[in-house]
Amino acid sequence: MFGCRVLGHRYRFRAVERELRWQCERGCGAGGSKSYETAERAERYAAALDREDRAALGERAPLIGLLPLRLWRSMGRKGQGSRSPSSRS
Ligand SMILES: [Zn+2]
Repeated sequence: MFGCRVLGHRYRFRAVERELRWQCERGCGAGGSKSYETAERAERYAAALDREDRAALGERAPLIGLLPLRLWRSMGRKGQGSRSPSSRS
């Protein structure tokens, strides 16, 4: 599909039980899935990835392997933000 070749796929993420699934919303057939230990984790990734994909249009699926690390970090930061704001640079 033309838009995908120029702009990259437009992935949407969702969790189905313990599986994270993503699919190009333009309907070109691109997509994939990945299983996690718990449904809660899959859902958390789906929510975070979906948000991230909409925010950062330039970053695409090849980065998926790197995303969890970044997500854990941003989640941790969010969770501890009020406790020790000065301990991080
Ligand atoms: Zn596509």
